[in-house]
Amino acid sequence: RTVYLNGEYLPETEARVSIFDRGFVMGDGVYEVTSVLDGRILEFTGHMNRLTRSLNEMGMENPLDESEWLAIHRRLIELNDIDEGLIYLQVTRGNAGDRDFAYPPADTPQTVVLFTQSKPGLADNPAAKSGLRVISLPDLRWGRRDIKTVQLLYPSMAKMEAKARGVDEAWFTEDDLVTEGTSNNAYIVKGGKIITRQLSNDILHGITRASLLRYAAEAQMQIEERPFSIAEAQAADEAFVTSASAFVLPVVEIDGATLNGGRPGPVAARLRELYIEESLKRAV
Ligand code: PLP
Repeated sequence: RTVYLNGEYLPETEARVSIFDRGFVMGDGVYEVTSVLDGRILEFTGHMNRLTRSLNEMGMENPLDESEWLAIHRRLIELNDIDEGLIYLQVTRGNAGDRDFAYPPADTPQTVVLFTQSKPGLADNPAAKSGLRVISLPDLRWGRRDIKTVQLLYPSMAKMEAKARGVDEAWFTEDDLVTEGTSNNAYIVKGGKIITRQLSNDILHGITRASLLRYAAEAQMQIEERPFSIAEAQAADEAFVTSASAFVLPVVEIDGATLNGGRPGPVAARLRELYIEESLKRAV
């Protein structure tokens, strides 16, 4: 695989980063993940705008402009012959040669890394037909979940707990209300209405979420942005999650309670189709 590191395209075995990099010793970096379908990138501008926002919230500048980022993404798609898959992008604060809690000088070069992951069948995810089973876990992450940092330890632990309990995914709760999934935004459907938590520092501002809500509104579907509890979700008609890599995936079980007879519901199925169709139209 050919990867990108600080302006160079290299075989993955030759891409080397300093052990003093703050991404490595401090988790001091941000990332984005975009999906590729038919060799084109979905929701690119949304992801690039969020990258700038995450960097700015951490006191960093975006080192490249959107057209430069796009050129790198396209080159990696071409070099690695990606038809369906993911592109991972990470920017860290780099290093100034020594470990220090204080940031290094502002002119310290950032570390920019991108790599592709080929995923044939990304759009044909079997989970779209079977649905996900989820458990709830307390949200023990930090208070700036709106920044897409590389600090993913707690979501990883939660994912392992879900696996250990024989299910697919975990939803986090805080004050009895669902914040989001380990790596996705959470929704329920009741009486045809799509309900999802409003944006704040408590959740990641999902790019799939923003686009899906726009496409759903354009399709005259009803949307309510407010938090919901696990009990309300268990009593809902349907539930689902969204992320750049999973698009829309139905949830069929929450803490042991089945929804819609344990089968994916019609609203989630329609939204999945709508999202893939509309985001493909805008793919670059
Ligand atoms: N919430 C969390 C915690 C995530 O990690 C992600 C994606 O990685 C999402 C939500 C979904 O965001 P997006 O739709 O931009 O992929």
